[in-house]
Amino acid sequence: MGEKTRIAVTPPIQVGGSLFTPEQLVKIGTVASTDSKIEMTNFQQLYLEVPLERSDAIKEELEYSGLEVYPSGFVTKSLIACNFCKGAEKGGLVAAQVLNRAIAGIVTPTPLKVGFAGCALGTSEPLLKDIGVVKMLNTFDIYVGGESKGIKASIARLLISGLSEAQLVPVITAIIDYYKANAKGKEKFSKYVHRISIEEMQQITQTIVSTTS
Ligand code: SF4
Repeated sequence: MGEKTRIAVTPPIQVGGSLFTPEQLVKIGTVASTDSKIEMTNFQQLYLEVPLERSDAIKEELEYSGLEVYPSGFVTKSLIACNFCKGAEKGGLVAAQVLNRAIAGIVTPTPLKVGFAGCALGTSEPLLKDIGVVKMLNTFDIYVGGESKGIKASIARLLISGLSEAQLVPVITAIIDYYKANAKGKEKFSKYVHRISIEEMQQITQTIVSTTS
């Protein structure tokens, strides 16, 4: 094989969680060449090595089979959502899908993970992600700065509570834009939150929220 590139493949956000159909797994195996590496990441994406010159065609084939394809590397990962065990409506499935479409693949200083939980039980571990969204009855709380890696792992802190569904995308894209504009080089999001302080982030977020209310 000539030059290779790596793409991130995931099933859509759905009730039941990160579910592949047998046909989709066959499709992934078919488009990958025999010497391709397929990696299971810890953020609900499969990394698939494909020939660079065929990557667009492969992406189309995978999407045709119902899968989603994103860039790998220094980008916002596709939303790491829960299983929506309380059902689509109670868990905010549509809000999660809309948010995912808005943020997945945005180029960022370091890989950025955004978690989404359909209730306060938080089984998708949103407080261990860079940004965590938790649905609370009819509104959403946002947490920032979680870090699951290393011996200095930390829990995300509450940034803002009581957001409406319509406010989720503008607020979270603004948080990401602000991080992109103000990170020092390849500064990790959790370090950046610690440096600029949760209080400053809360002020910025309040300004965004007041323009969306
Ligand atoms: S976070 Fe809540 S709604 Fe989502 S799977 Fe866990 S318990 Fe169910």
